[in-house]
Amino acid sequence: MNAILQVNAEDMDAVVQPGVTRKALNTHLRDTGLFFSVDPGADASIGGMAATGASGTNAVRYGTMKDNILALKAVLPSGEVVTTAARARKSSAGYDLTRLMVGSEGTLGLITELTLRLRGIPEAVSAATCSFPSVEAACNAVIVTIQYGLPVARIELLDALQVRAVNAYSKLSLPEAPLLLLEFHGSEAGVAEQAQAFGEIASDMGGTGFTFTTREEDRNALWQARHDAYWAGLQLRPGAKGLSTDVCVPVSRLADCVTAAQDRLASAGMMAPIVGHVGDGNFHCLLLVDMDNHAEIDQAEDFIGWLNDLAISMGGTCTGEHGIGQGKAKYLERELGPGAMTMMQAIKRGIDPLGILNPGKMGLT
Ligand SMILES: Cc1cc2nc3c(=O)[nH]c(=O)nc-3n(C[C@H](O)[C@H](O)[C@H](O)COP(=O)(O)OP(=O)(O)OC[C@H]3O[C@@H](n4cnc5c(N)ncnc54)[C@H](O)[C@@H]3O)c2cc1C
Repeated sequence: MNAILQVNAEDMDAVVQPGVTRKALNTHLRDTGLFFSVDPGADASIGGMAATGASGTNAVRYGTMKDNILALKAVLPSGEVVTTAARARKSSAGYDLTRLMVGSEGTLGLITELTLRLRGIPEAVSAATCSFPSVEAACNAVIVTIQYGLPVARIELLDALQVRAVNAYSKLSLPEAPLLLLEFHGSEAGVAEQAQAFGEIASDMGGTGFTFTTREEDRNALWQARHDAYWAGLQLRPGAKGLSTDVCVPVSRLADCVTAAQDRLASAGMMAPIVGHVGDGNFHCLLLVDMDNHAEIDQAEDFIGWLNDLAISMGGTCTGEHGIGQGKAKYLERELGPGAMTMMQAIKRGIDPLGILNPGKMGLT
């Protein structure tokens, strides 16, 4: 099911089948001056991205899958086909079934069609990098940038270990220190102004080596390196498995959460590069673990549990993206409480009484 069924350029939306991948969609849209903004890096299917509630690098500006799906069609376990909403930009008609289905991880129905919100390709795009003396300083620059209302399109953190990995994998020579990688969208004058404003904030936070480019080849090289960060991280410890975990906290708690994670990793002697979509308060640790060593596996699981609890205690979530799946099912109740679990279980049983769709996922049967 990989057909693009409609592109309604005047309304800035498109209707697609779930097997369309985001790169195929954006290639198809190129001549319309529009693009689909959600970019998790991987060339995932739109259906999979909807089912997992994906986001990624530019959610800070354009939102997540939850913000960019206007309506969808799904087949319920009963065989009934439902349409969750019209193509209108907003609606107050009934329950928000679209958002119920987005992020439901295949537990409620099979999505067969999606109406997506599209955005205008910006007139100008620029990318910037800036190094910092610590992740705390970098996070503080992010906090001020967001509080200041600077409309960054992407603002990504790489800790020093991740920069080392990216340099080796993507043949770059970035300074091996915590790094912020940014993108600005707007008019020619607008992107220059935004970059300059960020440069001033960064400098106040101890940032050094601020560079800014509008050249497409340079921007693409930087973002390709960011998108390859996972593969680069794996190369730091050949033979190890990468256990990736992400949390998301209110942006004001970002520096505290990332710093605490780094301290704990260092004191446990664990190798785990950190990258983050930090404009949203979201970051990932890639724990490089020898899966033949049970002590290391236990240590990694302890760390993941500790980090989830820390994020929840800061008013955050155990998963900003990637979803609950099976691995994080035990944290869902801790985050939302028993009332929300009872409500989710009632929804699951009401729609899927025989438990035939992804039973056990998200802790729901
Ligand atoms: C290197 C890498 C980096 C990534 N970085 C990010 C990131 O930064 N941010 C982020 O959010 N994600 C990230 N991801 C995860 C990525 O977004 C997900 O893999 C993707 O959203 C799932 O799409 P898929 O096509 O792989 O789906 P699948 O793996 O096929 O499916 C995922 C889930 O969705 C369900 N599903 C799939 N299609 C449907 C459908 N039509 N109807 C109902 N349920 C369905 C499946 O049952 C399954 O539970 C990354 C992945 C990789 C490999």
